[in-house]
Amino acid sequence: MKKLTIAEFQSELKAQGVDRREDMAVVCPICKTVQSMQSLINAGAKDQDHAERLTGFSCVGRFTGAGPHKKGTPPGKGCDWTLGGLFRLHEMVVIDENGREHPHFLPATPEQARKLASQNGGFNG
Ligand SMILES: [Zn+2]
Repeated sequence: MKKLTIAEFQSELKAQGVDRREDMAVVCPICKTVQSMQSLINAGAKDQDHAERLTGFSCVGRFTGAGPHKKGTPPGKGCDWTLGGLFRLHEMVVIDENGREHPHFLPATPEQARKLASQNGGFNG
């Protein structure tokens, strides 16, 4: 289990090198789909706030109606996974200033984040 403080987590996201916060990317632990706040907005999240709360916690597939992940399906489609569910299969927690642990999807690599940002129409240098 990877444990990061909020500051460490934010610096991992910054290291992705995308310009916009909305394009900072995470990876679903179940279907391995790379996704960002922009992905959730594009997929029909109510508004920016809603997308922000759910990014890294609920898979983009919950917005697109992708359904449960099937073993062997290549990443990209999303699935119905959420870390708020019954099974706790997260790979990372972010530790807040009170020492509380919050399950979160792992950050994507810079390559993954930049590729997704360009697919989502976000500008990146
Ligand atoms: Zn997923």
